[in-house]
Amino acid sequence: TISILWFRRDLRLSDHPALLAAVDSADEVLPVFVRDPALHDRGAVRTGRLEASLAALSADTGGALVLRTGDPAEVIAELAESVNADQVHVSRESTPYGRRRDDRVREHLAREGRELVETGSPYAVGPGRVLNKTGEPYRVFTPFSKAWRDHGWPEPGARPDDIAWAADPDPDESHDPDPGSRDAGDGAEAGEQAALERWREFLRDDLISYGDQRDRPDLDTTSRLSVHLKYGEIHPRTILAELADDSAADTEGARRFVTELAWREFYADVLWHWPRSAWRDLRDTLSGMEYDEGPETAVLVEAWQQGVTGYPFVDAGMRQLRAEGWMHNRVRMVTASFLVKDLHVWWPSGARYFLDHLRDGDLASNNHGWQWVAGTGTDASPYFRVFNPVTQGVKFDPDGDYVRRWIPELAHLAGAAAHEPWRSADGYDHGYPERIVDHAEERRETLRRYDRAKGDD
Ligand code: FAD
Repeated sequence: TISILWFRRDLRLSDHPALLAAVDSADEVLPVFVRDPALHDRGAVRTGRLEASLAALSADTGGALVLRTGDPAEVIAELAESVNADQVHVSRESTPYGRRRDDRVREHLAREGRELVETGSPYAVGPGRVLNKTGEPYRVFTPFSKAWRDHGWPEPGARPDDIAWAADPDPDESHDPDPGSRDAGDGAEAGEQAALERWREFLRDDLISYGDQRDRPDLDTTSRLSVHLKYGEIHPRTILAELADDSAADTEGARRFVTELAWREFYADVLWHWPRSAWRDLRDTLSGMEYDEGPETAVLVEAWQQGVTGYPFVDAGMRQLRAEGWMHNRVRMVTASFLVKDLHVWWPSGARYFLDHLRDGDLASNNHGWQWVAGTGTDASPYFRVFNPVTQGVKFDPDGDYVRRWIPELAHLAGAAAHEPWRSADGYDHGYPERIVDHAEERRETLRRYDRAKGDD
């Protein structure tokens, strides 16, 4: 007998509940990945990173991974028929699209009496499982994170040895990833082995200082696990279990790190309960807010995207995003705030741009991160809090190293002077642009708009 394991956001073999279930259910397992045009046609950054991860997974399965392109409902049903698999095993998906797609796949399979079996999820605690005493979901992070820890999670599952992989029923149909594409394009390796190495290196070298340094883009000592977590090259449960066993488990760094993982879980949970919040305001308290659009705004948005707003910390971040497909968390907050509160653009347009350019682009974390900044989501920040892009830079990149790393036109300015080229006589000598808006004025404008919107309630 053969069962199918359909990989999606779980491109690994260790600590993989659905793989264990598939192995238990049949003599052989057919490992499959479907390139779904509905998801994978959004730009080179994502496709390149995905292909790198698939190349690594294919190698880890000894080349057994079956690759197809097309509508998963049809592809999976056809494959199940050709190998006569009664069961297709998956990790439970929690995004709106993933849930709809899986419902369709389930229906297609059921027509032939076959079953879609969901085991585990990409999270330590499956989205939807953490509820308060009255059975309601949480909308605020701190009580969620406490309940999430109290809920707990199972120990990581073992990696099955000697899996009997089934042969591709139609090898001519498989379009293998280029084996040379294991380099994910940002110099970092993709795949399970690379993810485990990155995690263990971070645990050994940087966790201890994570509490103090996590907000410092110049030091660049955060874990960089987001992209590995996005593709499921490592399960968060593996991380949490190894962390709990480590001598650093009781440090401030470890506590902060677990809290950050909890944010990832929280946002997935919010998306599960309110799928609409992917692209609409979670709270309607600011539904009367005026935002700008049209040709003049488009010019400003273009400057933001290209990293030429004249605000060095913002521009450094946007250039890092384009160059690396990754941006430090503090800078994500400041650049997002700049779009929403200095350029007055509604957050979904920025969220879309980030998703298309981030290698770790994740609907739940990204779009709720944007909503947090815009004041429309969970833990809505007080409406009068508007990040100042200059003082944020001076505070979190105190020597200007981050700015100079990404903006060669400011390389001649020493120390924190790189954050304020307008203060140096030679600040603009190497082609750095003037500020496209006046932050103080735009901040006042944002507060006026907020006041009006709140008055509409
Ligand atoms: P670390 O600081 O080492 O954190 C460890 C892990 O915790 C991360 O890998 C991530 O999985 C999780 N985490 C940390 N901070 C957050 C957070 N605020 N929200 C949710 N999870 C978090 N994260 C993504 O994974 N994908 C995104 O598309 C994404 N978009 C964002 C957009 C905005 C506007 C903001 C403010 C944040 C966004 N984040 C996103 C969250 C965060 O910025 C990144 O997870 C983090 O910068 C990744 O780097 P790291 O792995 O070195 O993080």
